[in-house]
Amino acid sequence: MSNRTVAAVSTPLAVGGIGVVRISGDDAVNIAAKVFKSVSGRDISEMKGYTACFGRVFDSSGEFDEAVLTVFRAPKSYTGEDVAEISCHGGVYLVKRLLRAVLDNGAYPAGAGEFTKRAFLNGKISLTQAEAVGDMLKVQSDYAARAALSLHDGVLFKEISEVKNKLVEISGHLCAWVDYPDEEIEEISLDEISDTLYMAKDRLSKLIGSFDSGKMMREGVDTAIVGRPNAGKSTLMNLMAGAQRSIVTQIEGTTRDVVEEVVRLGDLILNVADTAGLRETDDVVEKIGVELARKKMEQSQLVLAVFDSSDTLNDFEYSLIDELKDRTAVAIINKIDLEQKIDVDYLKQHFKYVVQISANSKDSLEALTETITEAMGFNFADPNAAMLANERQKKCADTALTACSQAIECLESGFTLDAVTVCITDAIECLGELTGESAAESVIDEVFSKFCVGK
Ligand code: GDP
Repeated sequence: MSNRTVAAVSTPLAVGGIGVVRISGDDAVNIAAKVFKSVSGRDISEMKGYTACFGRVFDSSGEFDEAVLTVFRAPKSYTGEDVAEISCHGGVYLVKRLLRAVLDNGAYPAGAGEFTKRAFLNGKISLTQAEAVGDMLKVQSDYAARAALSLHDGVLFKEISEVKNKLVEISGHLCAWVDYPDEEIEEISLDEISDTLYMAKDRLSKLIGSFDSGKMMREGVDTAIVGRPNAGKSTLMNLMAGAQRSIVTQIEGTTRDVVEEVVRLGDLILNVADTAGLRETDDVVEKIGVELARKKMEQSQLVLAVFDSSDTLNDFEYSLIDELKDRTAVAIINKIDLEQKIDVDYLKQHFKYVVQISANSKDSLEALTETITEAMGFNFADPNAAMLANERQKKCADTALTACSQAIECLESGFTLDAVTVCITDAIECLGELTGESAAESVIDEVFSKFCVGK
């Protein structure tokens, strides 16, 4: 695969300012020279890295667009190979015709993520850095962008490599001991082995511990809006979503299903479910809605409990407040524009985070955002710190952690040193799989299959 020169459209196949066809491989520049002619008559095949040239693109039927050719020379390119990027006008027909011309002149169509895969195979980036490239295309918030950039900068790779290198060091000593028991080999004390294993366990545990919070910040916090009928749940949902999504009426039991929406509040992404009002009901459909609401509430990471402040608390609400005592929840005291009857002190005593708003006024959004951010704030890991970015990485870290714990157990219960060595070798393998250094081809293929063609 790596000897072939490949090409793909690297911009979306839609009308845009420019469209870019990227070519990578030994023949990249020669192929570019067969479809691109410099206006000044410059010899394309002699172009140096990091240079650009203005000209026209053509195929067997003649010239069809103006374009700019940018050349990168191996190894100083995205893929580590010679790369030619031709930027033409961003019309779907033009870009497709340009790609066709490039393929007709000897390039092979690039597979999904093939440019990034080549960067990985050519040692330009680690597997975790390649995954960061994929993440960058999906980010939706400043936090997620910063986390993806840190991953791309190699912060996780560095952390994992440090742990791995320490394990490799002690494993080297242990293997030598086990294989050559009679030789004079530099001493390493059991304490040193134990210290390294505890250090590895501690650092891996920290990474695993911050996985859920990092994921919440990148992909959104599962949030349930709950409360009695007519408290203003749908109005709140609409306020947060910035548009009318849930049906708002004065008739109790209007939201019978669960309405879901991804909303952004400041730096937070919330995957919000607006649920049916919690109350006793004989209506079969509404009953199902109430059960769904309960389920959503149980599964969510954040609960927004809405209270109608123009009324007193009812029995349902007292038991809801009790149910929420150990959860991350915000009490939203709604309808503060009306005459107040609710026991605000009671709510303040039972909820750590309370905000008083009028859900039908946009002015409430600021206080709401502030309180919800505060409620979630303690949950979040520093986006600039080393963080596991996906389930694949988490699984590798989990298995490595288990192997380290087993190594400690073997060491402390007086097993032979080769038992300890086996566990340490397992941990090293898992960490190598995490960074990609010892990942199986199938794992690598799986990672890049999630990329789009052209990346
Ligand atoms: P839900 O059943 O909890 O989803 O409640 P809705 O969002 O459908 O609201 C019930 C009623 O309360 C509607 O008539 C809303 O317009 C009204 N309402 C919601 N929020 C406020 C508010 O802050 N102030 C006032 N005065 N009315 C509100």
